[in-house]
Amino acid sequence: MAGLAAGIRLAMYGKEVLILERHNAPGGLNSFYAIDGRRYDVGLHAVTNYVPAGVKGKPLGKLLRQLRIARDELDLCPQFGSRIAFPGLSLRFENGFSRLEQEIAEAFPGQIDGLRQLRKAVLAFDEFAPREENLGARACIAQHLSDPLLTDMLLCPLMYYGSAREHDMDFGQFVILWKAIYEEGFARPFEGVRVIIRALLKRFREVGGKRKMKCGVRRMSVQDNRVRCIELDDGTQLTADHIISTAGRVETEALLDKGNPQSSKPAAKARVGALSFVETITVLNKQPAGLGLKDTIVFFNQSERFHYENPQSPVDLRSGVVCMPNNYDYGDGRQLDEGFFRVTAIAAYDYWKSLEPEAYQTAKREWYPQVQRAALKAIGHDDSGLLQQHTLATDMFTPTTIEHFTGHAGGAVYGSPDKVQDGRTTVDNLYLAGTDQGFLGITGALLSGISMANLHVLSA
Ligand SMILES: Cc1cc2nc3c(=O)[nH]c(=O)nc-3n(C[C@H](O)[C@H](O)[C@H](O)COP(=O)(O)OP(=O)(O)OC[C@H]3O[C@@H](n4cnc5c(N)ncnc54)[C@H](O)[C@@H]3O)c2cc1C
Repeated sequence: MAGLAAGIRLAMYGKEVLILERHNAPGGLNSFYAIDGRRYDVGLHAVTNYVPAGVKGKPLGKLLRQLRIARDELDLCPQFGSRIAFPGLSLRFENGFSRLEQEIAEAFPGQIDGLRQLRKAVLAFDEFAPREENLGARACIAQHLSDPLLTDMLLCPLMYYGSAREHDMDFGQFVILWKAIYEEGFARPFEGVRVIIRALLKRFREVGGKRKMKCGVRRMSVQDNRVRCIELDDGTQLTADHIISTAGRVETEALLDKGNPQSSKPAAKARVGALSFVETITVLNKQPAGLGLKDTIVFFNQSERFHYENPQSPVDLRSGVVCMPNNYDYGDGRQLDEGFFRVTAIAAYDYWKSLEPEAYQTAKREWYPQVQRAALKAIGHDDSGLLQQHTLATDMFTPTTIEHFTGHAGGAVYGSPDKVQDGRTTVDNLYLAGTDQGFLGITGALLSGISMANLHVLSA
């Protein structure tokens, strides 16, 4: 997404742009695929930062304007309503902050003044201004809220949708995601992520951009601190004035390492992200609402405190995210033909990576029902067989699936915890965009591509 957005922006201003993609399908972490003729999105739960048409000054409008894509092309349909479900307590939220504020006022009356102060601090914070240090969100929240349960409940969705850091998140990321999820909100195109990818590809073609699929970059050679040669997997060598890499920071550093003698390697190395996930997908012959599952997304936690960390077990069943893509307001009587029940949970990359193919398949068969059972129980449905009799098909991906299809080391969906806010690398004409520049999710990746193209190429 970041690469396509950067490419559109540059080609719009007459630059000769080539996008190199190792996979055979576009979209990266948010692509799509088909099994037995049934179409699946890789990951799409929600497009964040949704605001109704006409609302000005928000990221969604800015990115559409910068890319010159008409809003209607994305067919964004708002959520019905989501929930943060902890033991014995749920906080509901909709698009816009008021429902969440009201729920917190009722459940945590002693914290509501603190919440309003925290919100004031969040709204006043310029998340795009350069920062020397990354403050931890927990310490900033503690200045306003004293209740650990409320703190954990507020952090759970934001960490799940974008923290590359264990236990805590950077305050800048917290602000970006608070605004994206609690102030603005969730939407989904009726036909899923392919609608967004299609719009980006169409625009990229219109402005004259070129794209090569199944065409990975194997290494980059540096001379006089500039990338002089990009070598592809098939041995082809290319040159470019500017290179924007959306492969990730760790992954881009590895491409430099492979292309250069020891002496010219960049000094500081980013850490591989510790957080990866499994996702189970269950296709139903019934709408989830018909089974009493009416939420759009539920962020759940079943233990006393919320633990966001690389787990000891293959999958951490204590918390997770349930998404039901049917539960959006598609309008015009539209509804997906089949029901979908998706569950995301934190998983241990090392475990999944260590398995031989047969053991890997066995582990998937063992963990799929456990993930689903834990999620159903956590969201208040103790009948673990609820979905079984209506199941048409299932799929499950693991940290190694993510690594295999997107090249992200450690299957780290949110990349390295060491972000580079200005996108600069140690090499003069090589910049980072996307996940490791610090803007996450679909909207974040698009904004990142746009802003890095503007900063390093168009205004250079
Ligand atoms: C399961 C899942 C669910 C998600 N759900 C949501 C959601 O509901 N809403 C949301 O907003 N976000 C979601 N995300 C996150 C979102 O998908 C990402 O944050 C965003 O797509 C990142 O885009 P990117 O362009 O930065 O990186 P990527 O999507 O990682 O793109 C990098 C691209 O570079 C290619 N590449 C890597 N190395 C090379 C190489 N050497 N040569 C050539 N090509 C290479 C990869 O194949 C990939 O296509 C989800 C992610 C996952 C995995």
